[in-house]
Amino acid sequence: MAKKKEAGQRGSHTVALSKTLFVRGCQCHKSLWLHKFKPELKDEESPETTARFAGGNMIGELARDLFPGGLLIPFEEDGERVPLEDQLRRTKEAMEGGAKVIYEAAFQHDGIFVKVDLLRKRVKGWELYEVKAGTSVKDVYILDSALQYFVLAGAGVPLGKAYVVHVNTEYVREGDVDLGSLLTCQNVTKEVKGLQAEVRSSTEKMRAALAQKKAPSIDIGPHCFDPYECDFQGHCWGHIPEDSVFDLRGKGVDQFALYYQGIVSQADIPLDLLKGKQKQQVQATLRQEDHVDRKAIRAFLNQLSYPLYFLDFETFMSAVPPFDGTSPYQQIPFQYSLHYQKRRGGKIHHVEFLAVPGEDPRKALLKSLLAAIPDGSCVLAYNSAFETRVLKDLAGRYKGHRARVNRIVANMQDLMVPFRTRACYKWEMKGGYSIKNVLPALVPDLSYSGLEIANGGAAMEAYHVMCAVKDKPEELAAVRGALLEYCKLDTLAMVRILDKLYQLAS
Ligand code: SF4
Repeated sequence: MAKKKEAGQRGSHTVALSKTLFVRGCQCHKSLWLHKFKPELKDEESPETTARFAGGNMIGELARDLFPGGLLIPFEEDGERVPLEDQLRRTKEAMEGGAKVIYEAAFQHDGIFVKVDLLRKRVKGWELYEVKAGTSVKDVYILDSALQYFVLAGAGVPLGKAYVVHVNTEYVREGDVDLGSLLTCQNVTKEVKGLQAEVRSSTEKMRAALAQKKAPSIDIGPHCFDPYECDFQGHCWGHIPEDSVFDLRGKGVDQFALYYQGIVSQADIPLDLLKGKQKQQVQATLRQEDHVDRKAIRAFLNQLSYPLYFLDFETFMSAVPPFDGTSPYQQIPFQYSLHYQKRRGGKIHHVEFLAVPGEDPRKALLKSLLAAIPDGSCVLAYNSAFETRVLKDLAGRYKGHRARVNRIVANMQDLMVPFRTRACYKWEMKGGYSIKNVLPALVPDLSYSGLEIANGGAAMEAYHVMCAVKDKPEELAAVRGALLEYCKLDTLAMVRILDKLYQLAS
């Protein structure tokens, strides 16, 4: 039934557009068409995307307090969507009734429906504020504002300036959130006015694309990732084989240039086009060949000393800093896993910490970690830049522990180094050197598959779930169990990878 109606809409030139559709259409007409008519082909939403939407909603609601006392035109009421006509009518009534500030005001012009995050009445006209959880003004935000300006101007609203409101990463919270410091309002009026003709022509082209019976024939390209990761990649990229030009890692050839020439599989790339690590990757893949530089591996291993501590943090971040001394999007540690061996090949011990949901975890985590790692010990992390940054943030906050923390940082070694430098390269790593590439190639019997939480993004999301279910013991226990299992595997994987390196070096 619904599909028949959509087919009818496709034949009409009054196909409705919205901000969401417009932004999608600016990225790719095929994405626009699929979103409207074949949403079932979308990829599953990633934890990162879920977090991005949640952050956007939180900032959007918070930003209303920049101009308090406004009138909200809700999108939903009592769990039901408010009909668009009602939203339009209520907005009109609010403006005519003398409202000075309106949140989520609704407008329609030329078949385009928009909601304006913040609308403020000034002497020279209504000011538009588009609120984003991003940390700078991006082109796509300006386009979004330009569409709103186009619709409001077309609807006869006397307009003043247009602003993009974004998060200021320099802000450090102390006490209550200072909204004026957390958010930056950037005047984009000139840019928005300059885009009006482009908006008109873009919407006409989008309508033409939506009126087609089939999805526009658009090939994959850099637009699949810019400005957003398109959620139809599973559908559009299905023809790309394993070990393709897009699996090449590091600097070198232009992957899309090769693809557009019909060179898709790595086996089809003329080897003289490749250099350095990309050449090594392709040759290793084609010959299923490994590379082991024993001397370089030994040099790395010689830097380690025992007792040896294998450390991994899990962190979360938030657009609104949750605790004193934190900034927007700062990585805040809530969990660590620590395996250790007193001597090489000795018994493996394990210590772990997981935050109490809702509480600032930093002090308790640091105390636990310092008690677990004897002063002066060698600490091994995978991609140690991350652990180092987290530790330095903790040292900055808890100055009494600064010297101890700095000694941990000074004694830290990075297990990623032999793989990043390709002192050890197995063809199954497919050019990558993250632990997720290295573990299956070196230690195939240990795997993340089957785990409820299998990557850092999912762990971050699980932290927020843990806070949301903190008063539901059974659900809380399940999330905590999944987090502990995941983080423990990260450091156990390091223990096993190091064992393998010793074997390869001998
Ligand atoms: S995956 Fe790429 S080609 Fe396919 S709809 Fe998305 S942006 Fe367009």
